[in-house]
Amino acid sequence: MFYLFVYCKIPMKEQSLKVAVIGAGMAGLLAAREIKREGHRVIVFEKTSRLGGTWVYDPRVETDPLGLDPSRKIVHSSMYSSLRVNLPRRLMGFLDYPFLKKQDGDTREFPGHREVLRYLEDFARDFWLVELIRFEHEVVRVERVNGVSHEWIVEWRTREGESEEEEVFEAVIVCNGHHTEPRIAEFPGMDTWPGVQIHSHNYRTPEPFKNKIVVLIGNGPSAHDILREISSVAKEVHQALRASDVHFKKLENRNNIWQHPVIERTDEDGKVIFQDGSFVCADIIIHCTGYKYHFPFLRTNGIVNMDDNCVGPLYKHVFPPYLAPWLSFVGLPYRAVPTLIIELQSRWLAKVLSGKLALPCEEEMASSVEELYQHMNESGRPKHHTHQLQQNKFDYENWLVNQLGLPPLEDWREQLYFYALKKIPSDAGDDYRDWDTWDINQWIQE
Ligand code: FAD
Repeated sequence: MFYLFVYCKIPMKEQSLKVAVIGAGMAGLLAAREIKREGHRVIVFEKTSRLGGTWVYDPRVETDPLGLDPSRKIVHSSMYSSLRVNLPRRLMGFLDYPFLKKQDGDTREFPGHREVLRYLEDFARDFWLVELIRFEHEVVRVERVNGVSHEWIVEWRTREGESEEEEVFEAVIVCNGHHTEPRIAEFPGMDTWPGVQIHSHNYRTPEPFKNKIVVLIGNGPSAHDILREISSVAKEVHQALRASDVHFKKLENRNNIWQHPVIERTDEDGKVIFQDGSFVCADIIIHCTGYKYHFPFLRTNGIVNMDDNCVGPLYKHVFPPYLAPWLSFVGLPYRAVPTLIIELQSRWLAKVLSGKLALPCEEEMASSVEELYQHMNESGRPKHHTHQLQQNKFDYENWLVNQLGLPPLEDWREQLYFYALKKIPSDAGDDYRDWDTWDINQWIQE
């Protein structure tokens, strides 16, 4: 197909807009700061009584431990009590607001979750963001007024009284997070299997797994943390992995952890049968299988769709071409440094909204998205990987930096990130976070 690349930018004059930000987690805070810096008027809607989103540890778990019942009472955060960050703090800090060690805080290079929450609280205080937040305001509807792109009704309810009110904004930035709605593994027999099944969203501490035989599905950073933690109290832990080279084996340095390929089926007598024929009679299955994007409040008449966990079409994972720049999403990409992506996206969209940076025209943005889909299709990548920045380079981050006219990102960021990724052990070895080769200063000097 021949594409005529006329650089047809959306013309916008410099302007100050009334902007709604949904969510006061890391993305909402960064978006609010950038929007405010650009001189726009911003209101942040936050459904809970605290800022920080994921980093606000909540010991409660949901009524449906697998998260399938749409009427369940939702607990936002998926934090477990022992969680320590999986990236060095030097990488996690914002470009102009480093994640410094504080005398009275958790000074480890990979601190616990409370330290991140404190960092976000300090950030919000230092940039006068707290006064922009309407706490306990849950957004229940976002919809264009009579189909006009830059007039959006935002409807919310407050906790007490559940009254619903609405207000009109010129732009809406969606920052509601994507680690709350569980995605589960599916296999024949799961509905009639007699044991307990939970998703890692509802994992807090290892005690409920004491002396149990557990099957853990998954291979991501949380799966590794939870596997290690559960194995210290459980009788046996059997990890089911999707990788093609996995076969039944006991882990060398552990006396109660086995690896298997994926689950083929489960039986009513409690058996869990894996694809290679190995099996175990288990008490609990824990699904550490990730999350789904979820925007229950968004009504766009089909302009923005969810298909196989792909939110689209979205130009550069931020703007739906036919609603840009009045509707945008921050923080969707994963397999990346979340803080860096969120900060760069926020700066970019704030400057687009104020007319300092222009977007290509609708058609060009739409064909850019089509090209991405086509490329994914040709290279055999499934649709649900659309927002996964899977390569081994910071291409997307560098593209944003380039748009913003910022100096190139320092090489150490990319190198340290990919080094850190490799250190997340594949065999449940000792805790990589305390590895004594983490001399970050040396890394940065090199
Ligand atoms: P969230 O933090 O989820 O914030 C979303 C906010 O929106 C919440 O406050 C929520 O209450 C609010 N909200 C949702 N719906 C509504 C609504 N309808 N109305 C009003 N408000 C609403 N990242 C790292 O960089 N390092 C790590 O080590 C790391 N570890 C992680 C471990 C776990 C277990 C998880 C789940 C994530 C981890 N992450 C890590 C990723 C983390 O999610 C991001 O760092 C970042 O916190 C995402 O911020 P966010 O604002 O997009 O989403």
